[in-house]
Amino acid sequence: MNKEFLEEYSLFRKFTCEVPGQMNSIPQPPINMVCRHCGDMQTFNMINNYWEFQDFMNSPSADQKVRLLYQCQSCRQFTRQFDVYISPDLDYVYKFGQYPEWEIKMDKNLESVLGKHSKTFRKGLVCESQGYGIGAFAYYRRITEEIIDELLDSITDLIAEEKKVEYKLALHKTKQTRVTQDKIDLVKDLLPSILKPNGMNPLGVLHSELSEGLHAESDQACLENANHIKSILTFLINQIIQSRESAKGFTESMKSLLEKKSKK
Ligand SMILES: [Zn+2]
Repeated sequence: MNKEFLEEYSLFRKFTCEVPGQMNSIPQPPINMVCRHCGDMQTFNMINNYWEFQDFMNSPSADQKVRLLYQCQSCRQFTRQFDVYISPDLDYVYKFGQYPEWEIKMDKNLESVLGKHSKTFRKGLVCESQGYGIGAFAYYRRITEEIIDELLDSITDLIAEEKKVEYKLALHKTKQTRVTQDKIDLVKDLLPSILKPNGMNPLGVLHSELSEGLHAESDQACLENANHIKSILTFLINQIIQSRESAKGFTESMKSLLEKKSKK
């Protein structure tokens, strides 16, 4: 077994690897995950054996289901459990069960900015990781609809002075429609260059992805759209946070500079 596989992989996602043919030769790597008892990241060690339901230590491992019990090294109270299937040709494994349930890791910045919406975003990530594109798309679209007003408001800070009046006017018009695409349409051409990596307009892309939406019929096609929406939201939110922080840093260093000068 592999640390990354145990820590990161969602249920039924195949992990390609070479599995030893005998149960007692399968590695038992320590893993680092959150302990619900200690309340933070801890090292967990495997405390059972792969062959516990077999007659022999060296029972064949091909086409078998195994259980892995991991205990927190620190408190020795909290345990995590994984149920893993080993392929007949010993060339991949996947989890078919996990306790506590698998949770996808989310960008900390994004999580705090999204606040109450972060649960919806997380559901989108889960759908995406399972290949459920239609579900992922629906969740990301929902988030976009919920945060679009705040998002467009926040962009105001990044607009150059000479364009601010024009942007605010457009922003005012966005409040008169409830259709997300229409809102985006009103302001997308006024984006500052800092929000246009390589000249690409993220709001323009967001607009077309949302419009195309669930007309894309297959999970695979929706997965692509969903992934674009996710990347754009992440990019915009991170850019807004970053420029706010650098603006704050700038103001603070100016302030201390001026204070020093006035002391002279
Ligand atoms: Zn613990």
